Amino acid sequence: MQEDKDREDFIESGKLAAKVREESKSLIMVEESLLDIAETVEQMILQEGAKCAFPLNISVNEQAAHFTPETGCLLMLGENDVVKVDLGVSINDALTDTAYTVDLSGKHGKLVEASATALENAIKLMKPGTRIAEVSATIEETVKSFGFLPISNLTGHMIKKGLLHAGVEVPNVRTAMPYVLREGDIFAIEPFASSGSGLVQDTDQVEIFSLINPKPLRLPQARKIQEQIMRDYRLLPFAQRWLDSGNSRLMVNTALKEMMAQRVVISYPVLKDSGDGLVSQAEHTILVGEEPLVLTK
Ligand code: MN
Ligand code: MN
Repeated sequence: MQEDKDREDFIESGKLAAKVREESKSLIMVEESLLDIAETVEQMILQEGAKCAFPLNISVNEQAAHFTPETGCLLMLGENDVVKVDLGVSINDALTDTAYTVDLSGKHGKLVEASATALENAIKLMKPGTRIAEVSATIEETVKSFGFLPISNLTGHMIKKGLLHAGVEVPNVRTAMPYVLREGDIFAIEPFASSGSGLVQDTDQVEIFSLINPKPLRLPQARKIQEQIMRDYRLLPFAQRWLDSGNSRLMVNTALKEMMAQRVVISYPVLKDSGDGLVSQAEHTILVGEEPLVLTK
């Protein structure tokens, strides 16, 4: 039965994500290199014979998502940093997605608690028959009860085999979304809490891309990089850093620029709170059932 096999793959993928999530926590310390953290966590996934569903996102303070260090990045965690660690595992295309926040200063406990409690409250609702609108309202109310704003333009998402964002979204604020949860659905729920505007905007920095529309390319550099992406990552997001070994930086830049122009790849710019507030995030992947099963716990 394909369905049973898929379920097993998702359970296995979630178990590995949970293990890496827990083991990665010891790396999140003042003066740790962001590049070392990213490479170490990604290796933890690869060494188990799984794939990264996306590059490790390690977004700090007002950054909400999509930062991953570039090759040679010298950034280190600082004593006042609020650090979001967001990781994804792929086993036979069963994708699981989980994130947590570490407050290195100890001054932002409430902010961290706001997104974590919103996630806990949302998980209890992940049963057949629940409307997404109820989940979203609960997230908004919980985050606001801590005195913060939920980020309204970042959402949780349905997951299907090979598709991390499978169409149905779970907003972090009240919504009129009509979707009703069904037994066996898989969703990543990811409340974000902000001390700023509660809205994210793109920055100029881009480290993560994904292939969306492979096609014949004339530029040899772009052809080579497209082949490499097709072979190693297919349609899953990848870091520019991952392409650097064995290719010159200039060659990778040229190839990505051409592929962006041809709409062969899309980019995921680093997102930050538009009011420069601090941001926390909590995320798990959940299998909808009478007893909701948190795959990544
Ligand atoms: Mn995530
Ligand atoms: Mn997600």
